[in-house]
Amino acid sequence: MKFITVALPPNLPKRWTKIYQGRVSALSGKVTYKLRSNYLRRNASWNLLKPWLSNLSHGKCWYCEAKSPRSPFDVDHFRPKLAVTIDGKSLGPEFGYYWLSYEWWNFRLSCQRCNRPERIDQQTLRGKWNEFPIQFEDSRSAPVDMAVEHEAPRFLDPMVEADCQLLAYGIDGEVKPSGDIGTWEYQRAKYTIDQLGLNDWNVPEDRRKEWQGLAIIVSLFGDHPPNHIKDHVNRYLQDDQEYSCFFRSAIGTHRDKQWIEAIL
Ligand SMILES: [Zn+2]
Repeated sequence: MKFITVALPPNLPKRWTKIYQGRVSALSGKVTYKLRSNYLRRNASWNLLKPWLSNLSHGKCWYCEAKSPRSPFDVDHFRPKLAVTIDGKSLGPEFGYYWLSYEWWNFRLSCQRCNRPERIDQQTLRGKWNEFPIQFEDSRSAPVDMAVEHEAPRFLDPMVEADCQLLAYGIDGEVKPSGDIGTWEYQRAKYTIDQLGLNDWNVPEDRRKEWQGLAIIVSLFGDHPPNHIKDHVNRYLQDDQEYSCFFRSAIGTHRDKQWIEAIL
């Protein structure tokens, strides 16, 4: 999970302001859950921001850093708009953060693996979908108190730099919590890894294999590689590289070499 930073003002597409104002105004007139739900299902205008969101992450999923050229990304609402579940159980009927449905700062570009629900076995349901547990349930926002800053989400948020640092990357290709077992930070990282399936679908194996090839090159050329080798390794550190956080960490295990230290 690579930190996504948005320079302010956010430089949204020009036509968005008008669309946003129209949607928010119309939504405020839908006074029941059913009316709101129907309206939101018919007016998924957040999809217009996909190219803008994708530019921010160089075409990668904000949660897992995968590129999905053959599968369209979703615009995930970090705080779900129409329903909230905790470990698969509904928080209650007709609750969702509908008032954040069109707020750009609630959008996260997500691959379908990270976002959509997928049952792995009887006990395991992957995907963020409507999941949104928080640390203290009695601090949950409700429409009467629409600020959300006081909530402590269990999901790690790619828009929070400190959250991204709660994940560590092993050269075995696996994503792991960086914090101490038993802490809230550890719980958040573990929950995010499990819920989004960050170590599922053979991704660690693929990462490990690619790193093994790269590690041989790094070792083979020792302390004074030719420039094209430096460029080749450096490519894995670029922002548009798939799983760049993993490769940065793996390449960092060779920082005893001066040229590696210099490109990190
Ligand atoms: Zn993803």
